[in-house]
Amino acid sequence: MYKVAIIEKIHSDGLEFLKKKNNFDFDVIDDVSEENLIKVLPNYDACTLRVSKLDSNILKHCKKLKVISRHGVGFDNVDTNFLKKSGITLLITATANARAVAEHVIYMMLTISKGFNIYDNEVRKGNFKSNSNKITTYELFKKNIMIFGFGRIGKILAELCKAFEMKIKIYDPYIDKKIIENFGYKKIDNYKEEINNSDYISLHLPLKKDTKNLINFDIMKNMKKNSIIINTSRGGIVNENDLNKALNEKLIFGAGLDVFEKEPILNDNPLIKNKRVLLSPHTATFTEECKSRMSIETVKNIVDFFSNKINKSMVVKL
Ligand code: NAD
Repeated sequence: MYKVAIIEKIHSDGLEFLKKKNNFDFDVIDDVSEENLIKVLPNYDACTLRVSKLDSNILKHCKKLKVISRHGVGFDNVDTNFLKKSGITLLITATANARAVAEHVIYMMLTISKGFNIYDNEVRKGNFKSNSNKITTYELFKKNIMIFGFGRIGKILAELCKAFEMKIKIYDPYIDKKIIENFGYKKIDNYKEEINNSDYISLHLPLKKDTKNLINFDIMKNMKKNSIIINTSRGGIVNENDLNKALNEKLIFGAGLDVFEKEPILNDNPLIKNKRVLLSPHTATFTEECKSRMSIETVKNIVDFFSNKINKSMVVKL
């Protein structure tokens, strides 16, 4: 019998899935304090993980632990160096959430392009037509979009953009030009030049040394005045102070952010008061469908791991 710790509650569909597996027993751990995890986690062969931190302070006590299954694809909350040293496998939900994030990008692009909720407010205030000429709105139709990162999410987003007949350009130095062209898109080598022709940019790449502050004031100041920046990848890839400045100086039209340099977003973050930015609290994957898919994939990965059937795309190369 394998013992699984479900660290932080997941959608009930995942728990139902695990209940039906004879060789697996599980407990939901709500108290995610370091003290409690040090006390209880050593009893388990596997654990799931949402946003709580698992660092070496906790992991060094977990001699039985063979596998950690992330409910998501990012893993900045796990000490990967420790996992590598101790032979613990790290799994991600590689297929469950890309669709929801790509749809969230379309929601943000459309909402910002159509004037946020200004029309809605005006109608409710009784200003049926009086404000309609003052508001600038845009279409997605045939616009230039540059997608940074042609992985799971970037690929689905590009597919969705085709419905608007957008001109799709991809910046991903790690993907072969031919592959991108076979999809019907243009591969961009120099993003700094191409960004000046883009109406929309959307980020779908990891936060690393070379991607931190990738989109900064120097970049934004040369972008088109109607351009819209969407970041659903990781906070810090777009520099928040620079973004606030570029929006205030009307150098770009708007921005949509699901992720932030500090999460939860700090109360004194100037973007909170900036009406030209659309915010969501890292909830791009929080659709009912996605929560269900992610919970099932998270626990199925553990079952597949112990049955030696784990799909390679779910395993993080440490
Ligand atoms: P993925 O690993 O499938 O794709 C990432 C792509 O980025 C890869 O093709 C890689 O070659 C490319 N890349 C790496 N470095 C690059 C660089 N310097 N410039 C351009 N491209 C580069 O990842 P994914 O599943 O598509 O996720 C993309 C991002 O979205 C990740 O940061 C992930 O953590 C984040 N994410 C956020 C949410 C959310 O809730 N908002 C949900 C899922 C994923």
